[in-house]
Amino acid sequence: MPARVINGNIIREEIYAELASEISALASSGIRPGLAAVLVGDNPASKLYVKSKIAACEKLGLASFHVSPPATVTSSELLAMVEDLNRRDDVDGILVQLPLPPQIDAKKILEAVHPAKDVDGFHPLNVGHLVAGRPTLVACTPAGVMELLRRSSIPLEGANAVVLGRSDIVGKPMALLLMQANATVTVCHSKTRDLPETVRRADIVVAAMGRAAMVTPDYIRPGATVIDVGINRVTDPWQAEKFFANFPARLVEFGTKGTALIGDVHPDVAAVAGALTPVPGGVGPLTIAMLMSNTVKAARLRRGVRLPAAAAIQR
Ligand code: NAP
Repeated sequence: MPARVINGNIIREEIYAELASEISALASSGIRPGLAAVLVGDNPASKLYVKSKIAACEKLGLASFHVSPPATVTSSELLAMVEDLNRRDDVDGILVQLPLPPQIDAKKILEAVHPAKDVDGFHPLNVGHLVAGRPTLVACTPAGVMELLRRSSIPLEGANAVVLGRSDIVGKPMALLLMQANATVTVCHSKTRDLPETVRRADIVVAAMGRAAMVTPDYIRPGATVIDVGINRVTDPWQAEKFFANFPARLVEFGTKGTALIGDVHPDVAAVAGALTPVPGGVGPLTIAMLMSNTVKAARLRRGVRLPAAAAIQR
């Protein structure tokens, strides 16, 4: 039986609907949460990401601010801009779009963002709170994966979860969140031995390696839940043929556009998994939704407003 598709677009809309009522409750207390995006230079992919984040703010009625210094900006100039946003009362969340140009000390800039406004959850203080199991602003992609799992009623307690990848922004926080949900977590990386055998023990697989279609059906225990965080672009027709052989509609789409997105999970895994997130339309939509959620949460916490008791979102 083909895997149940976990639809990220539908879950994003559920979250937006919940946020909308929280935002209108804040508005009645005269509070309009605001997100500031810092975009250095004019990297087209970064511009597109920031544009979608600003569009999400507009859709939800959040205030948004855009700071866009040239690619030649110095670390101290950028630090001064972040400090200015830290001081502004109308700014609740600050996101610094990565990657930053080589002359910039990215770590120093991310650490300069005030932890209370760190809506990307990258500040060491917020990471430390996550490690200690204290409430905090959590990195958006892993937080989004938790929403996908929870809202799809995937049992986590006692489950064997395997996280593929150990990056600071996905793999590590993902493993911590799954552990806090009482899963038994294994973290794999490029030096892991017997990878397919380790992954086959998992009830839940989260793939975040940036390796196109690497997780093939032989990695997956029948019935397992597979969350595909990877986003990879295919432009080679031979590769497209290999990945989409059993998905004629996707091959036709590739033929028309000359390009397609694929995750770290081979599409054929759908024949083995119990539930699976598609790429696109799985984890991707949740990342921006959780950024919006973190911005509203940051506004609420900074201004001492409590979350309504009936709120469905877990934060
Ligand atoms: P990253 O910083 O490059 O980390 C990749 C991780 O995968 C590393 O820990 C690496 O191991 C591991 N890895 C690489 N090749 C491997 C292999 N052959 N076997 C086992 N492990 C391997 O990447 P990232 O920033 O975490 O992103 C991962 C993927 O998620 C990318 O495709 C990215 O585009 C995507 N992403 C999607 C979203 C979204 O919104 N959907 C958000 C963020 C990222 P080592 O540590 O040993 O090098």
